[in-house]
Amino acid sequence: MPAKEKKPFYPTWVEIDLNALAYNFHMVKSLVGPRVYIAGIVKSNAYGHGMVEVSRKLTELGMDMLAVCFVEEGITIRQAGLKGIPILILGGFQPGQGELLVQYDLTPAVYADHMIEELATVACKHQTVIPCHLKVDTGLGRLGIHHSEAADFACTIASHKELRMEGIFSHLSFDEPEHKFTYLQIERFSKALSQLQARSFSPRYRHLASSAGVLGYPSSWFNMVRPGAILYGSYPTGYSQPHLKQVLSLKTTIMCLKKFPPHTPISYESSYITKRESLIAILPIGYGDGFSRLYSSVNYLLWQGKKVPIVGKICMNFTLVDVTDFTGVKPGDEVVIIGECQGEYLRAADFADPLNILPEEVLCNIDKSLPRFIVEKNKT
Ligand SMILES: *Cc1c(COP(=O)(O)O)cnc(C)c1O
Repeated sequence: MPAKEKKPFYPTWVEIDLNALAYNFHMVKSLVGPRVYIAGIVKSNAYGHGMVEVSRKLTELGMDMLAVCFVEEGITIRQAGLKGIPILILGGFQPGQGELLVQYDLTPAVYADHMIEELATVACKHQTVIPCHLKVDTGLGRLGIHHSEAADFACTIASHKELRMEGIFSHLSFDEPEHKFTYLQIERFSKALSQLQARSFSPRYRHLASSAGVLGYPSSWFNMVRPGAILYGSYPTGYSQPHLKQVLSLKTTIMCLKKFPPHTPISYESSYITKRESLIAILPIGYGDGFSRLYSSVNYLLWQGKKVPIVGKICMNFTLVDVTDFTGVKPGDEVVIIGECQGEYLRAADFADPLNILPEEVLCNIDKSLPRFIVEKNKT
């Protein structure tokens, strides 16, 4: 493994498998076919995977567009040298950020009059035309123009020649398959599109589908989809197909082994009591690294393909696992927290599901400052 050969030695690290990312991208592409554009969602540091590295790879793979939530994220991608590929700012922009959109060639979502005014002023000043995507609220109840007012708002945008309404989009509220509300959102979005059409607007990009839409609702694809989770190998609630590869692995190293007699309290608040003489391995990862205390006792980790249970509360910098049942365990051995280990597998969902949180939360919480290595594993 390239990560292990790197110097200096790191006890805990993240591996990002760009071939797995490519695999998932091709899976999405083969699902939606050649006539549907794809905007890859790379917000929140690409769901904890590293925004710049992921954006670069997706661009190489032929992604049509990248999308982030905030202007600052778009700037970071451009400053890393990625030019050419359009970057959509899903969250729009804050008052005063209009200049930055021009300077860094970013395409904002727009959904308020003050945004149009600022864009028009900035565009005039730079004698340029600013592209934008009209954001519509079809039921999520967050940002966006109410679906019944989309056509009127499109007219307002069109009244400014310095703006080009290049797209129109909305966002789904539910992830589950076959959800009534999702069909309602699709219907509202379609209706808004025909109302725009009636006034002779047909924006080049029309998009509604997040990962759940891609997997479960072909009628939500229109002519562009916006997958996030599935690019990284996470399934939306209620899906387990098609086969996807987890892009991120999280690994650590046994610091030391300690034998405890029966009935010994282990970790804070005596949160575990040994039932027998126990061999406990101490791992240098804890909630300070984003490995939540809530994962205590809900799960196990992997050592040489074997499941080693977490015992006691997870500390800020340490996690303890019971390795009594295994021979040959030694300090310096690798322990897999998320990822593949000799045929066994731990996914972000294995930590998320028992807590009723999303796999994305597990991934986003992994400390950004942990060393991160790009690997390119088996292409198959
Ligand atoms: C985050 C986000 C997505 C991607 O959602 P996934 O469920 O991760 O695919 C798509 N569109 C918008 C507007 C988003 O905020």
